[in-house]
Amino acid sequence: MHEMSITQGIIDLCQEHACGRRIRSIDVEIGQLSSTVPEAIEFCFEACSRETLLEGAQLNIIRTAGIGQCLECCRETPLAELYAPCQHCGGNRITVVAGEELRVREIEVDD
Ligand SMILES: [Zn+2]
Repeated sequence: MHEMSITQGIIDLCQEHACGRRIRSIDVEIGQLSSTVPEAIEFCFEACSRETLLEGAQLNIIRTAGIGQCLECCRETPLAELYAPCQHCGGNRITVVAGEELRVREIEVDD
């Protein structure tokens, strides 16, 4: 499962930054256009965080909206999915500006 390796990556990254301290909560940004299911991340997090510095930590998932730049009319358009047409002119030549990210935004550790 692709979410399992993503979650493991998130946990590894957090542990590296925690310097041995327990992690209380983490904020993870998942773009609407990334092919990642937040519920699956939550599920994997439960399993992968056991016996790590993240055991019992609060996982906050922030969904970020998809935004594209239309190459036909040069305006920004909301993108509900990859390859959706421009909402202004219906054009299909769109470059993704936001919504594909998957990153740890914040880590809160115990003092
Ligand atoms: Zn357009």
